[in-house]
Amino acid sequence: MTRRRMRPDSGAADKPSGRVSGYSAAALVRQGLRRAPDWKPAWRSHDLAESYDVVIVGGGIHGLATAYYLASRHGITNVAVLDMGYLGGGGSGRNTAIARSNYLTPEGVAFYDRSVKLYERLSAELNFNIMFSQRGHLTLAHSDASLRTMRWRAEVNKLQGVDSEVIGPDEIKKMAPALDVSDEPRYPILGALHHPPGGIIRHDAVVWGYARAADLYGVHLHQRTEVLGIDTEQGRVTGVRTSRGRIATGTVVNCTAGWSSLINDMVGVRTPIVTYPLQAAVTEPVKPFLDPVVVSGTLHVYVSQTARGELVFGASVDPFAQYSMRGSLDFIEGLAGHVLELMPGLSKARLLRQWAGLCDMTPDYSPIMGPTEVDGFHVDIGWGTYGFKAGPVAGEQMALLINDGKPPVLIEPFGVDRFLAGQLVGEKGAASVGH
Ligand SMILES: Cc1cc2nc3c(=O)[nH]c(=O)nc-3n(C[C@H](O)[C@H](O)[C@H](O)COP(=O)(O)OP(=O)(O)OC[C@H]3O[C@@H](n4cnc5c(N)ncnc54)[C@H](O)[C@@H]3O)c2cc1C
Repeated sequence: MTRRRMRPDSGAADKPSGRVSGYSAAALVRQGLRRAPDWKPAWRSHDLAESYDVVIVGGGIHGLATAYYLASRHGITNVAVLDMGYLGGGGSGRNTAIARSNYLTPEGVAFYDRSVKLYERLSAELNFNIMFSQRGHLTLAHSDASLRTMRWRAEVNKLQGVDSEVIGPDEIKKMAPALDVSDEPRYPILGALHHPPGGIIRHDAVVWGYARAADLYGVHLHQRTEVLGIDTEQGRVTGVRTSRGRIATGTVVNCTAGWSSLINDMVGVRTPIVTYPLQAAVTEPVKPFLDPVVVSGTLHVYVSQTARGELVFGASVDPFAQYSMRGSLDFIEGLAGHVLELMPGLSKARLLRQWAGLCDMTPDYSPIMGPTEVDGFHVDIGWGTYGFKAGPVAGEQMALLINDGKPPVLIEPFGVDRFLAGQLVGEKGAASVGH
């Protein structure tokens, strides 16, 4: 592998003419004073090279983060990211942007906590405001059984230094006055798991920030480049066939989330992934009234308010496995009913838009990360409904894996062979609905 130690503003030959500092306040003033501002595109287009050291399939947060950390942490810059559409056109640009680390298993908590920490300093690192708003995350309990799970989660979280606590209806009311905490609703609110570091992030900004930074390090980002096949010889990856030609490479990383089993099929790697659509919706903007992210597993619904005032709603995955990304009327009807059970005051709010994305669900609601039985073919998949928050740590750890040639400790539990060994990392109690 070609390794080069370089800083994005080091003046290296393959660096774009724009610089990381192109987005400084001084540049903004300078450009503002010009008659015709000449902002450079955030990343460049390239011809496909004949070979790359690493080919990453999928230009979402995971693929771009992996490329960025390969280049910035390990000096591996001869890297291509291929996407059949546009960067962020998959789940990375469709999610409801919730980040948190209050998971149920020790493995999950350690992993997602690292991601929250990386997110906390990502704006500064990428010189790109990703608008991480740590306004707290409330997972509501409507039954004694779910209160018990919340207490369990709080204890697991605290043992790993993650801020998490079970609170009662009075405190919930103080944090989110719009919630109906009376005895009236069908499922009264008995308590909640409060997780102060949780919050929302601007997902497009994360995609663009990683893409711009990876480009500055010399990574080639190829949009509209579909992977059609992967060549192997004697059990090792030798190249990738794309809609724009063949690339020779010894290392391929599958970062295609909802499409990941199709890419695995190209090399005969089998994983227990089933793809389901997940829908979401947003209202027109209203005056800010909701600070924390509010999640109800029982009602299969969650809601947050963006900085612009829109309410963003999400739910569980659709009940049928398919690759369609269309919204449906029954989803929106069910969602609206459940939201009104939580916040009756929203009955006059008007929906602006609904959409869907694809989720690659695993049986234990944990990802699949690491090498496979095909030499040089790595997977970073199985992200289901929770992969946005994991983008930074997944990218960091996949880059480490490629550099060191062995899975780092943080992702060891998520290996593909855990299904054969019967060592599942059961996260359903904390991963479903509370994205
Ligand atoms: C409605 C919704 C809400 C969600 N909310 C949250 C949330 O609040 N918090 C959270 O943590 N997660 C959430 N998720 C999940 C999260 O969005 C995903 O897990 C995450 O975005 C996966 O990122 P990725 O980079 O792995 O894949 P993606 O962003 O899906 O990117 C995969 C890319 O692969 C490309 N591709 C596929 N096949 C090929 C091919 N043959 N050749 C080339 N390119 C190919 C696609 O074009 C796509 O751009 C949500 C998902 C949805 C749909």
